[in-house]
Amino acid sequence: MLRNAKLAALRVLKRAGGFEVVANSKWRRNRLLILCYHGTSLEDEHQWRPPLYVAPEILEQRLQSLRAMRCSILPLGEALQRLQASDLPPCSVAVTFDDGTYDFYRRAYPLLKKYGIPVTVYQTTYYSDNLMPVFNLICSYILWKRRTEKLGPMPEIGINETMNLSTQLSRHRVVRCLVEHADRENLTGREKNEVASRLAQALRVDYVDLTSRRILQLMNGQEIAEIAKDGVDVQLHTHRHRTPDDEALFQRELDDNRCRIESLTGKSPTHFCYPSGVYRQQFVSWLRKDGVLSATTCDSGLVQAGDNPFLLSRFVDTTGRTQLEFESWVSGVGALMALRKTATQRYTVPQD
Ligand SMILES: [Zn+2]
Repeated sequence: MLRNAKLAALRVLKRAGGFEVVANSKWRRNRLLILCYHGTSLEDEHQWRPPLYVAPEILEQRLQSLRAMRCSILPLGEALQRLQASDLPPCSVAVTFDDGTYDFYRRAYPLLKKYGIPVTVYQTTYYSDNLMPVFNLICSYILWKRRTEKLGPMPEIGINETMNLSTQLSRHRVVRCLVEHADRENLTGREKNEVASRLAQALRVDYVDLTSRRILQLMNGQEIAEIAKDGVDVQLHTHRHRTPDDEALFQRELDDNRCRIESLTGKSPTHFCYPSGVYRQQFVSWLRKDGVLSATTCDSGLVQAGDNPFLLSRFVDTTGRTQLEFESWVSGVGALMALRKTATQRYTVPQD
């Protein structure tokens, strides 16, 4: 109800020219919008997980409107420097993609190139070295493909009873059993891939075909090197897509990630994005100590000079966002109308 009222208000405002007024205002000029995307569907991934994937047609529509709204689309590093120097051009936007999935290479990058839009990819690297699908995601996708069925017991992969696959929650329970089994047995990446393959087989999904289409896989080293050479800004997202609470382990995630990115791109990454948007107070000082210059979250908001550079908000664009909402955020109206700062993961104060 509230959402419908908000959309109706946005429609009225847009028709009255309110978007344009805010987009050209001094208020908006002093702020930067950092857009955040994850995957762009190779096939039907946006139907499987709408908050994570957008269809390529939607992405293209968004890029067209950035051009139509005459936004100043800047590379992330330049945008952050100009923000600090109070030198932002009108309606400035920076575009970022998290994870560095193969679908970025195949679907999103050709579109960004077509519209001449600079982009930052926050690349996680473990699965770039080990070419197989991301374990928990591919299991979830296989279960979704068979959501009208039931999964019989498979104790050898951690499923001890017949499981219902009809709801997101019930499928999530199965994934949790599989992940817990893998953790308990201390399975390697290859062994986890074998578990996913057995799950697929039990549900009559052709796993060889699925993996050959590169669904839910990351870019490989060659692809990362190729896009970097072509001008894509490749930045930090941890090696194993996790942020341990132990400082030495956190540092290792940064070191391994940086080392892989440097060897592939020949450049040293200095910008970071928190995996899954999770951040804690101690991470800020660890990142600063490491020499990182900025870190982005998945919290919604525009960025202004004076914001903590290690807690930069973004606008996470997903299948669930309408074109009107997207345009409202680009103009600045969306941020003004947000009743409170919506956060995917709130800032967490450590326990001790
Ligand atoms: Zn991520």
